[in-house]
Amino acid sequence: MKIGVIGSGLSGTTSAILLKEMGHDVEIFESRNHVGGNCFDSDVSGVKVHQYGAHIFHTNDDDVWNFLNRYTTFNDYEHKVRANTRLGRISIPYNKTTTNQIGRELSPDEITELIFKEYSERHWGTSWEKLPKSITNRVPNKRDDFDTRYFTDKYQGIPSEGYTNMFNAMLNGIRVHHGVPKDEYKRLNFDFLVYTGKPDDFFDLCFGKLPYRSLRFEHFKSERKNEFSFLDGAVINECNKLKFNRTVDNSVFLNQNLDSTILTRDYPQEHDESNEPIYPKNYGESLMIFERYKKLMQNEKNVLFLGRLATYKYLDMWMAVKQAM
Ligand code: UDP
Repeated sequence: MKIGVIGSGLSGTTSAILLKEMGHDVEIFESRNHVGGNCFDSDVSGVKVHQYGAHIFHTNDDDVWNFLNRYTTFNDYEHKVRANTRLGRISIPYNKTTTNQIGRELSPDEITELIFKEYSERHWGTSWEKLPKSITNRVPNKRDDFDTRYFTDKYQGIPSEGYTNMFNAMLNGIRVHHGVPKDEYKRLNFDFLVYTGKPDDFFDLCFGKLPYRSLRFEHFKSERKNEFSFLDGAVINECNKLKFNRTVDNSVFLNQNLDSTILTRDYPQEHDESNEPIYPKNYGESLMIFERYKKLMQNEKNVLFLGRLATYKYLDMWMAVKQAM
């Protein structure tokens, strides 16, 4: 079959590989001028910068891990996050180490107030009360250990040569067209389509726009002597009224021990034509809009809808690979 894959993120790339291995004639159509979707990283002043914010690979799934290890090795980076709060800088998720840092044990409600409420309301542009547990429970309220790692999965790491190199290895031998207008596939003929874009675009906005949350990224150089540089760990979250979520030191991921680094800050905003859709707002009224699009999607017999955008799910990287598999 002649198959078009729309999008070269993890979902599109994984499905393109597997469909090609099944003997199909596969071509990828990508609207951006790079592959890898929001995993895309590139070199800036010698630092591998995660252009769409920190991407930390983690999974407990052997199939996903073995699949990606066909294309890259992963280093032994284990993610640790600290947060600036009104009780000082603490490690999160909250656990016994955090209790020791603060000097007393906080109740679940106090933890919500300290770590989650302001951060989440800024990030989602929604009041805490309206946010579903599926989002806020991604980070546990409290863990009963001393482990300062953000994730406890058995496999963790960053592709040793960066994400873009991993994608280039994955796409070796697959035709990828760059800078293709987002609706170009509607004018081309395929026997089958894998679509990883937004459902509302696919159906010409017939039920209106499907809301996504976006981020504006600010990347800036910082010398070693600068107080923000070479953070102890890669990420500091802001659980307070500042306008940005986190400061990321990109040099930490690949242990690039240079005199200066590139820091990244992410400022939450609504998704519109001027930015990329990043987080599906899959709760409340948005979910009702999605349900209407979903019915149309189910009627499309020759189209497979995949990934965070098309299936309107907050997928981690490993989940995007798994879903495509
Ligand atoms: N969260 C929070 N405070 C934090 C970190 C996370 O309130 O310091 C909440 C917030 O609602 C966020 C969700 O937990 O959207 C998931 O966090 P995660 O780190 O998984 O977000 P991602 O890296 O996917 O943006």
